[in-house]
Amino acid sequence: MSAVTAVVGGTIVSPSGSVAGDVLVRDGAIAAVGEVDRTGAEVVDASGCLVLPGAIDVHTHIFGAVADDTRSALLGGTTSMLAFVDAEPGERPVEAARRTIADELPKAHADVALHTVIWEPEAYRPGDMRDVHALGVGSVKLWLAYIELGIMADDDVAFAVMQEAAALGMVVLAHCENGRVIDVLTRELVAAGEMGLGSLPRSRPIALEAECVHRFLAMAEVAGSTAYVVHVTGSRPMQELAAARGRGQAVYGEACVHHLLFDESCHHGDDALRYVMTPPLRSPGDRAALRGGLVRGGLDTYASDHCHLRLDRDKVPVADDFTRVPTGVPGIAARLPIGLALAGEDGLTVERLVEVACAAPARIFGLPGKGAVAPGNDGDLVVWDPAAPSAITLEGLGDGLDWTPYDGFELPGRIRHVLARGVHVVEDGTFIGEEHRGAYLAVGG
Ligand SMILES: [Zn+2]
Repeated sequence: MSAVTAVVGGTIVSPSGSVAGDVLVRDGAIAAVGEVDRTGAEVVDASGCLVLPGAIDVHTHIFGAVADDTRSALLGGTTSMLAFVDAEPGERPVEAARRTIADELPKAHADVALHTVIWEPEAYRPGDMRDVHALGVGSVKLWLAYIELGIMADDDVAFAVMQEAAALGMVVLAHCENGRVIDVLTRELVAAGEMGLGSLPRSRPIALEAECVHRFLAMAEVAGSTAYVVHVTGSRPMQELAAARGRGQAVYGEACVHHLLFDESCHHGDDALRYVMTPPLRSPGDRAALRGGLVRGGLDTYASDHCHLRLDRDKVPVADDFTRVPTGVPGIAARLPIGLALAGEDGLTVERLVEVACAAPARIFGLPGKGAVAPGNDGDLVVWDPAAPSAITLEGLGDGLDWTPYDGFELPGRIRHVLARGVHVVEDGTFIGEEHRGAYLAVGG
């Protein structure tokens, strides 16, 4: 194929507005926007279509299934992602990141940056963040719940990590739920024999999320660290974010697809197994608050929290015990199309969607060359046809799983083309990028 591609006749979307124009991509990068010289270029017709920057998913768990999940990402217009590094028992953060870069990233079809994770809080020692930061990892995640898995950081370790991260300019992400109280509530439910999936939300009320967000942000204030709260679920945690912003803190909140679409009634239906996630789904009012937050700026990013979990292998065999079902849902490919479906509803514009799904992730996590259709940036583009309604199907997601919580979700249009670093990887909705390899996005260097 040509090293030069011209995407012509479309409307280019940025957070500040949408303008008609062509995009010329040469040698993997955007060479020109507006009136372009298309001599010798492969021409991609974007007439009547929106041209978006390749989307960036801040919250993904892809390791162990990198090829499937990154192929799926590209099919859904996500050309870059930040992924949580898994660790073997006893591995230091830098060792886990080095192994991931060597063994996992060569299989990636899309670009990947890493979040390091504190998996063994008792083993944390000063210098762990410095070492992993030197590999180009610009963010660290704390688990403030999951005491039963041994991964919950107590306040002392969390604060020490935040201090070291602050000194290095690393962003600190946190899963915010009060793990100690959840542990008590869970053991009470188990003792009462209440093992059904409806016990999941009962063990994790939103008050415990709001309390943990408050505590995390207070610690971040004292440590001087940038704080990013993953998967915010409703009004009360959003109020904590707003209060910290009011104090002048650098804080960010993330909304995930499932919390925007579903509510707590899903935990009590016949197909509750399809909604096992933490934090759980909340009230319809909370869901509305999240949508409002995405529109008005109370929330900063829109992510998938994609987990490569099968129903038949991972969930069904333990479905009669809410403490044993692995939590999480897949969604890396569904995220951007569902965002485009939400755009137009409730005041969410396509320009604001580009902010929360593309531009803000690049800015917050320091990914140069990403998140905007601009000369010099990487040639990551999505061509969305708003005149071709479609629906989400398992086959179309291409992630190799046996289910999706979004099956049959109706979309007002469809993705026609995706370019990743200038390579045409999705053509007329079909993945043709099997040979394309993504890059490791080193940040913070
Ligand atoms: Zn997650």
